[in-house]
Amino acid sequence: MQLVSIQHTACYEQKVIDESVDAHFARLHLDEICKPGIKVVLKPNLLMKRAPEEGTTAHPALVEAVVRHLQSLGVTDITIADSPGGVYSKPLLTGIYKATGMEDIARRRNVKLNENIGSTYVSNPNGVICKGFDLINPIVEADFIISIAKLKTHCMAGLSGAVKNLFGCVPGLMKPEFHWRYPEEKDFCNMLVDLCETVKPDITFVDAVVSMEGDGPSSGSLRETGMTFCAASPYELDLALSKVIHRPTEQTYTIVNAAERGLCSMSPEDVKVCGDPLLVYEDFKQPRSKGIDFMAFVPAPLRPVVKPAVNRLLTPRPQVKKSVCIGCGKCAESCPAKTIRIEDRKAHIYHENCIKCYCCHEMCPVKAIHVRRNPILNL
Ligand code: SF4
Ligand code: SF4
Repeated sequence: MQLVSIQHTACYEQKVIDESVDAHFARLHLDEICKPGIKVVLKPNLLMKRAPEEGTTAHPALVEAVVRHLQSLGVTDITIADSPGGVYSKPLLTGIYKATGMEDIARRRNVKLNENIGSTYVSNPNGVICKGFDLINPIVEADFIISIAKLKTHCMAGLSGAVKNLFGCVPGLMKPEFHWRYPEEKDFCNMLVDLCETVKPDITFVDAVVSMEGDGPSSGSLRETGMTFCAASPYELDLALSKVIHRPTEQTYTIVNAAERGLCSMSPEDVKVCGDPLLVYEDFKQPRSKGIDFMAFVPAPLRPVVKPAVNRLLTPRPQVKKSVCIGCGKCAESCPAKTIRIEDRKAHIYHENCIKCYCCHEMCPVKAIHVRRNPILNL
């Protein structure tokens, strides 16, 4: 059992965040492992081109505080890297670095922003469902990986925290391929655990000063949760985060799969925390795609027979708000089922092939795709 450090952090004022990060380093004795000469990669959640105050990406104040602390220890080789959603290209990265505040950090702190869009296959012979991954090169070449996640809900995986953040180590449009290969949530999350075991981040920080509730990871609403987290184990961290957002662990398949492998327990009560007490938000809004286990209402012997029909009728589906859609095509580009077409400058979803992965919802820059529950569920 590894420690999860919690620090109550009221705002993103740089001084406040600096103190918070210093406290995590001290509590977890991280100064002893971050030695001068190591090649460090910071992997913040940079999902898309959004400003920090929109709460979709890891806040730059936290990224900068980690850089500052590393530099105070004499670490000079620091690169910020992520593969956001969409095409993995230099122009896309440049725009995202600028919008998310990473460009300013690089200039102020003299650290590198990754521009290498190559990837390398890394095998994972012990993988349960996936035996290897193409990973972006800076991750493969790093001596030390620091993941910086953002606490958000996630329409497909339920929780976007420490484990889910590593999906950004897979380059660009290879990500939708994984949704296509693993359309079932449990399999997809099992793949995420395999990925986490392949990347093996050395430390993970989580920005939970302001989190995202509701239809995360990009269309939810912001919620002040007032904490930062740090831990060596991404699994223990997600267990703690599930308690913060009051999400049952048995419905969070990254945790279920990790627990089945003995990487963590199923009970948040088992997490060993240090620092400030964990704050819990019992009314934290879950994604509309989640929260009802339809099959629980069906007698077990009938489940295999009725499951396809129940899924087709009752699983919430993505729907385009035509008045908001700007016809940019990012949803179609990210759709693993290739079931979205842009016609008359608007996105159209052909639902018969939709696998309900919600990538389109995640990648829409203007929140034009919402997740629509069958009205029967609102009765
Ligand atoms: S339409 Fe949206 S939810 Fe359906 S498969 Fe495509 S990306 Fe996934
Ligand atoms: S739905 Fe969103 S992502 Fe798709 S074309 Fe319209 S604006 Fe772009």
